[in-house]
Amino acid sequence: ENAAFHAEVLVLGGGPGGYTAAFRAADLGKQVVLVERYPTLGGVCLNVGCIPSKALLHVAQVVHEAAEGSSFGVKFGPPEIDLAKVRDYKNKVVKTLTTGLAALAKQRKVTVVQGVGQFVSDKTLAVETAEGPKTIGFDACIIAAGSQPVKIPGFPHDDPRLIDSTGALELAEVPKRFLIVGGGIIGLEMATVYHALGSAVSVVELMDQLIPGCDADLVKPLHQRIKKQYQNIYLKTKVVRIEPEAEGLRVFFEGEGAPESEVFDRVLVAVGRRPNGKLIGAEQAGVRVDERGFIPVDAQQRTNVPHIYAIGDIVGNPMLAHKATHEAKVAAEVIAGHKAAFQALTIPSVAYTDPEIAWMGLTETQALAQGVEYDKAVFPWAASGRALGIGRREGLTKILYAKESQRILGAGIVGTNAGELIAETVLALEMGADVQDIALTIHPHPTLSETFAFAAEMAEGTITDLY
Ligand code: FAD
Repeated sequence: ENAAFHAEVLVLGGGPGGYTAAFRAADLGKQVVLVERYPTLGGVCLNVGCIPSKALLHVAQVVHEAAEGSSFGVKFGPPEIDLAKVRDYKNKVVKTLTTGLAALAKQRKVTVVQGVGQFVSDKTLAVETAEGPKTIGFDACIIAAGSQPVKIPGFPHDDPRLIDSTGALELAEVPKRFLIVGGGIIGLEMATVYHALGSAVSVVELMDQLIPGCDADLVKPLHQRIKKQYQNIYLKTKVVRIEPEAEGLRVFFEGEGAPESEVFDRVLVAVGRRPNGKLIGAEQAGVRVDERGFIPVDAQQRTNVPHIYAIGDIVGNPMLAHKATHEAKVAAEVIAGHKAAFQALTIPSVAYTDPEIAWMGLTETQALAQGVEYDKAVFPWAASGRALGIGRREGLTKILYAKESQRILGAGIVGTNAGELIAETVLALEMGADVQDIALTIHPHPTLSETFAFAAEMAEGTITDLY
């Protein structure tokens, strides 16, 4: 039967955008229905994205640090990897979080409907559930249907040896010869994991540097480290064809650094993600979707249809969980009648590689392209006592600041824990701090966080010692 019911706020998609919006709307007194096609909440981030990747990267870090112990006089044997246990560990982390979300939804009386949703009008969504179709009417709707990995046309995507990030996180096996197509954040994080587990990793990237979009000086220390660890890193190179053979996948390359065709046991395609905007029947609701599948929204997260909002990966780049959750709160608050708008000055980016790379605000590449006048200070971690103490001197902390006002315009960090360290620079930018504010703020010694203050002291010309 077609059970019809009504929601004050209907949320389509249960990822970080969707569940945050649903919870916030419920906390503001709205009666909320959340529609998610998968049996667990959490979307890409919790199930097949941020969280499982970071659990596996922790395993990789332990392997790497143990291997480096001999440099300070502690030698461990070669790691014995119990892949089933590694997989269990990762799955448990995910399960703890998704189970927690289900409990939080229940606590807030958010009704979760499992099924695939499609708009039938600007007031109703049809959901294909296990018990048959359901129609849900709504006063307001928040679209949070996310994105999915880009597939390359012509590649044998049906072959189980050709995987995407979801397949890589499944950890079905540790391939001997592993090729990663795409030297962006997701590809390099998976490279870090599989290298630690014992794969011979190769990476191929179309552009002239890894992590395109990040300043080259920040990428360099990472590149230098991994080029010693990995089999090959091919830049300015394109994979043009993949042919399944009994032995593996034969990969054909083209471009400046292109090698002969090569056979790999597995190939990961990590060349970006595309929004799900064209898959939800948006046209039936009159919601405008651009040619790439993104849904344009205003600062209140409103689509062209005033009572329908959209958030997260489906509204545009950067496709990051912390952007989705902040947009989610704005949409829920606007629906509840609050004055709210998405006005973040910056959204930080982090590659959880080894070393990590993190940046926020204006990058140097952007500043040069846009003709922005700036000054910069770069503090080398080789002069940080703490960095030396942990045996990682390759890091850099860079700040860009305005010539006149000396206010922070952007920052980039490469080095251990860069992802944690970048948060302070984001706060500095949001608060309009100038380099003197940062230099005068007492940072604990000896820490990596000090490197931000040291960079500010360099900018000020007040740095005395390097330590
Ligand atoms: P999603 O998380 O994509 O959620 C959308 C949900 O909607 C999904 O659960 C989907 O099943 C559901 N849905 C879609 N269509 C329908 C429909 N028609 N009916 C019912 N349900 C539907 N970001 C970070 O910030 N930090 C990281 O470290 C990080 N690591 C990542 C690692 C990997 C390997 C990947 C792939 C991504 C990573 N991301 C990371 C990106 C992050 O996962 C996304 O930005 C985030 O999940 C976007 O949230 P969202 O709510 O917009 O969409």
